Amino acid sequence: MDFEPDPTHAAFREEVRTFTRENVPHDLARRTYIGLHPPLIEDYRRWQRIKHARGWGAPHWPVEYGGTGWSPMQEHIFLEELYRADALDYGWQGTHMIGPVLIAFGSEAQKRRFLPPLLSGEEYWCQGFSEPNAGSDLAALRTRAELAGDEWIINGQKIWTSDAQYADWGFFLVRTDPNVKPQQGISLLLVPMNAPGITIRPIESISGGHELNEVFLDQVRVPRENLVGEPGRGWTYAKYLLDKERTASAYLYQNKRELEKAKEIARAEAVNGRRLIDTPEFAHKLARVEADLLALEWSVLRILCDEHNVHDPVAVVSALKIRGSEMQQRVAQLQIDALGPRALRTFPHYELAAALDVTPLWPSYVRGRTAQFLHLRAATIYGGSREIQKNIIAKRAFGL
Ligand SMILES: Cc1cc2nc3c(=O)[nH]c(=O)nc-3n(C[C@H](O)[C@H](O)[C@H](O)COP(=O)(O)OP(=O)(O)OC[C@H]3O[C@@H](n4cnc5c(N)ncnc54)[C@H](O)[C@@H]3O)c2cc1C
Repeated sequence: MDFEPDPTHAAFREEVRTFTRENVPHDLARRTYIGLHPPLIEDYRRWQRIKHARGWGAPHWPVEYGGTGWSPMQEHIFLEELYRADALDYGWQGTHMIGPVLIAFGSEAQKRRFLPPLLSGEEYWCQGFSEPNAGSDLAALRTRAELAGDEWIINGQKIWTSDAQYADWGFFLVRTDPNVKPQQGISLLLVPMNAPGITIRPIESISGGHELNEVFLDQVRVPRENLVGEPGRGWTYAKYLLDKERTASAYLYQNKRELEKAKEIARAEAVNGRRLIDTPEFAHKLARVEADLLALEWSVLRILCDEHNVHDPVAVVSALKIRGSEMQQRVAQLQIDALGPRALRTFPHYELAAALDVTPLWPSYVRGRTAQFLHLRAATIYGGSREIQKNIIAKRAFGL
């Protein structure tokens, strides 16, 4: 491994930094700094439009579909700079999930229809996989789709569907053949979220935000050609992404930015007339988190430089997911510790969205910290729970 700074990387970083300095809207950056979750959908659309105009709507996509052809290190630098500038990094269901799946397995007509509005931020997507009795055990999903003439008719229920209330489209795993092995009877369908028969019911989160939903599908009809790839291959397509997104599960960039905020709080807060960051107790806690985050960063860099893919990619994603999500919770805890009693004041979501003026009592760094701390309790659940990741590592890395 050679991490010596490459002069072309320095120039590239400067290019991205100039772009963010000149283009990230101030109010959007303010809301991202606060950690408004979920963000305003209009912020997502606006920022996606800006990135798209620069040719950076989905840098990791192949060039022929609007990507950039950047190296993994360039993508790494790009994301680092986005977080540094409090630019929004959201809507991964579209750009990082269904987009790459359509590129790999979609029909030409699907690519033509769906990729351009996804890239430009015009159309927003949600992911309909989990069901009340099919989360970790996703293969147990029961939502059915039956072919009737030229249409699929869908019946069933999804749960924990992030942003379903905003989404124009959803990609849904559905059972199309109940008579084969569970994984083999699952297909992937593209569903317009305004289709008759869809009911979206909100689930309020512990943080006060509304991201999650139940989605009920009652005789929902979609055209036959909305099936992605072949029937019965939905499971394969759903797993395909693991190989592509090897380091995203580490949440490295978010962790680094949030650690900076923890330091900012600790520099500003005082205990017995002394800056909190200078007290041995806090300095010790901070150093431990920072050292572990540095270790995570090196793990990510090792994977990015692992050109020969010597590690099992699925086990790598799981290991990074465990460490990354735990780091998110530890960094958030550090922020809460630094805030002390101020952390007890939680701000309603609408107040966070409005980003009200700061006061000496509630400086800018207070707002949103408690909501985010509460939201991040879910970090070790979504995207596959910690226990499931450990099972995967046991199987794939150690053959147990
Ligand atoms: C904030 C948030 C956003 C989400 N967004 C989406 C979304 O947009 N779309 C979507 O489809 N889903 C989404 N999900 C759902 C998420 O994928 C599931 O919550 C997750 O897969 C866990 O499934 P479950 O909730 O059914 O828990 P369960 O599978 O019931 O698990 C409950 C507990 O049992 C443990 N457990 C289960 N099986 C095993 C086992 N074999 N060995 C050891 N322990 C086990 C789990 O680790 C967990 O602690 C979201 C979830 C959250 C919290």
